[in-house]
Amino acid sequence: MSVGEFELIDKIRRRAKVGAEVKLGIGDDCSSIAVPANHELLTSTDLLLEGVHFRLDWTDLHSLGIKAVAVNVSDLAAMGAKPVSLHLAVGLPVGLSDQQVEAFIDGIFAGLDRYDLSLAGGDTCRAQGPLVISVTVQGLCHRDQIITRAGARAGDDLWVSGTLGDSALALRALQSGHPLSDFLAERHHRPQPRTALGQQLATQGLASAMLDLSDGLAGDLPHLLRASAVGAQIDLARLPLSEEFRAELHKDQRLIDLAICGGEDYELLFSAAPEARPVLEQLAVQLELPLQRIGGIGSDPELRFCMSDGSAYQPQLAAFDHFLSNKG
Ligand code: ADP
Ligand code: MG
Repeated sequence: MSVGEFELIDKIRRRAKVGAEVKLGIGDDCSSIAVPANHELLTSTDLLLEGVHFRLDWTDLHSLGIKAVAVNVSDLAAMGAKPVSLHLAVGLPVGLSDQQVEAFIDGIFAGLDRYDLSLAGGDTCRAQGPLVISVTVQGLCHRDQIITRAGARAGDDLWVSGTLGDSALALRALQSGHPLSDFLAERHHRPQPRTALGQQLATQGLASAMLDLSDGLAGDLPHLLRASAVGAQIDLARLPLSEEFRAELHKDQRLIDLAICGGEDYELLFSAAPEARPVLEQLAVQLELPLQRIGGIGSDPELRFCMSDGSAYQPQLAAFDHFLSNKG
């Protein structure tokens, strides 16, 4: 990489669009974000490490930039917040070419545009070693509308958006050296955080608890159950699966575990009172996003996966782990 740190920051600063909430953006020691009356500022950080969360031979830098924004925006969606600002800290390997750096930054800006986020600051460092990306996002939510993991009640339904297991199916193909279909590549490399759904659930007060699925249903749902001090029963026949996933499942029934345990779906999982069913079905149509009722919340603090005959099912995969931990 020949372009210097200051030159790069200056390039980024010139491109950064700054929304009305950002009172101070790039160029001072801190950024400053205005918080409207009765609102709270929600903040989330994610670390993306080369070799742990991504591999440069499996992804292009542009897609990686978009994904770094998207996975963070998903955390804002999971609490019903409106995305406002983003901070980007990068450790750029000295071996990365100017073109690669540019493709990455282009991807970041594509993500910022897509979710209407201001780039409000960050930190840039060139270093020996792997590519390190740390993204922090901030969003706003009315203080009475924030959806945490802690509000699920016995008798609530459990819902999930989109389809499950596609990203894990893609990872499995990559690991075995198979090319990805356009659909699977999109699901794995370009996850779509469900921002509109998250905000609608918050403003309409429809969800009692929510989180986004990054570590699989079996990995993430226990967090919600623990925070709410409840249990859940999941009806496996109701899991929403894409056509492509169903086709693979038809060949090998064990793949159902990818929909239960596979990571990086970035769909929203939420609990809601049964009275909300018609409104949620309407919301799915309005947002053109499938919402599927996959089970229910119970007072008994356990998580049960049920087959169509009512018997219990034990998934065989451990909750999704980043791939390098499986490499041995
Ligand atoms: P400091 O020495 O005070 O940390 P820097 O020289 O690191 O300041 O950064 C100067 C300004 O540029 C700061 O406002 C910082 O937030 C911003 N900045 C640095 N790197 C990035 C980046 N990768 N993306 C966005 N803003 C950045
Ligand atoms: Mg700095």
